Amino acid sequence: MSIHVTSVSKSYKNQKALDDISFSVKKGEIIGFLGPNGAGKSTMMKILTGFIKPDSGTVLVDEIDVLDTPIESQKNIGYLPEHNPLYAEMYVREYLQFRAHIYKVDKSQIEHYIEKVGLTAEAHKKINQLSKGYQQRVGIAAAILHNPSVLILDEPTTGLDPNQLVAIRALIKDLGTEKTILLSTHIMQEVEAICDTVIIVNKGKIVANETLSNLQKNTHQILSVQFDKPISEADFNSLSNIKSTLKKGDSWVVTFNSKEDMRPKLFDFAKDKGLKILELSSEQEQLEDLFRKITS
Ligand code: ADP
Repeated sequence: MSIHVTSVSKSYKNQKALDDISFSVKKGEIIGFLGPNGAGKSTMMKILTGFIKPDSGTVLVDEIDVLDTPIESQKNIGYLPEHNPLYAEMYVREYLQFRAHIYKVDKSQIEHYIEKVGLTAEAHKKINQLSKGYQQRVGIAAAILHNPSVLILDEPTTGLDPNQLVAIRALIKDLGTEKTILLSTHIMQEVEAICDTVIIVNKGKIVANETLSNLQKNTHQILSVQFDKPISEADFNSLSNIKSTLKKGDSWVVTFNSKEDMRPKLFDFAKDKGLKILELSSEQEQLEDLFRKITS
């Protein structure tokens, strides 16, 4: 395991930010740490990177205990904090040289990382002359200069315009071919665009930890059906596991509280009622809707 978190809790005075959190991340995975604002994401990221200590629990990154040996474990961790604190008055190369010095990285490596994050054309500029998207690239370059195996990115695309967003997501995906990545976000589409697996947190607790495909499978089943004759909502009462029904044009969108394939039941239902099915299709529940349901 690249990351192994066991029973981590953290309170700020009376405010419980993390409540008995446990999860693991396999080597080479890109995991989305998803939750609404205030869910505890940044607190978890700061604990993972050794910046703050939890009240209880253990954290291993690449088998090294972050709480006992933070300096040792930080060699394996690259961290892009929320709001990416950079020295705005510094030139890009100057800043990366400064960071290389802190991490005792040979300065000859800097050009390699400038190229890797797509900063070559901007590297002669001052950081405050760069767009937000390029500033994020500087932050990411600084985070990977010491070639860590694990990358922790706290809300890496917040405040980017749509083009920058696509470019930074592509860069993160590319870095994910070499590194284990845990990124926090409050946007489900971000997870869908980048991640293999999602951990959903709400009010300091994990409420889901699934691959995206499993998350989709484990949700309700939604069927859209068109009959040859009009029927009323009450007619559906004879069907089992119905969660909701909605009339949409000539069709009915029926949501079932069941993972079992409900299509045969719907055919039986039509036969019993003397109806013919003109159209039947399965709809995926949007992950965004699911996220809102889980965390509302
Ligand atoms: P997220 O990153 O998901 O928005 P945070 O980890 O920043 O969530 O915050 C979790 C909870 O802890 C929130 O209720 C927040 O107000 C509280 N919190 C975070 N940092 C501090 C702090 N330094 N002092 C007091 N409360 C804090």
